[in-house]
Amino acid sequence: MATMRLEIITAERVVYSEEVSVLVAPGIDGELGILPHHAPLLTVLQPGEMRVVKDGEESFIAVSGGFLEVLGNKVIILADTAERAEEIDSARAEEAMKRAQERVQSRSADMDLERALMALRRSQARLKVAQRRRRATPGSSG
Ligand code: ATP
Repeated sequence: MATMRLEIITAERVVYSEEVSVLVAPGIDGELGILPHHAPLLTVLQPGEMRVVKDGEESFIAVSGGFLEVLGNKVIILADTAERAEEIDSARAEEAMKRAQERVQSRSADMDLERALMALRRSQARLKVAQRRRRATPGSSG
């Protein structure tokens, strides 16, 4: 099966670096599907879930935003933050979501709505990806 190199990098670390056959990422204008030998592309990501297929197996990675570049059968994602499903602390994400919801609802004059909404979307993306992990765990179905 055809593959491409996928590298997901933040300022802190390399989150993911593998040969994959499919990538679906949250592009700024909607879901973006990338297959091997895709045409060159540079685009912006929004907070959400990335889906990758490697050796026929699906896995999920949360991303908070960043840039995606396709060049020469390689996809490089420079992410603000990114976590593989198994790395996500769900309790932390739930607390972050509650804090952000309270901030948005407070409507106080010094509240930065854009910032609060972005925090809300980051936490929701992490919770969504963490749920995928639970569903994918053997024996936890039903
Ligand atoms: P919090 O308020 O919980 O810090 P946040 O959305 O403000 O959430 P970020 O600034 O996006 O956090 O991320 C800071 C660092 O913490 C990054 O390295 C990110 O990958 C990591 N991180 C944030 N939330 C989680 C989480 N729920 N599980 C694992 N790592 C996380």
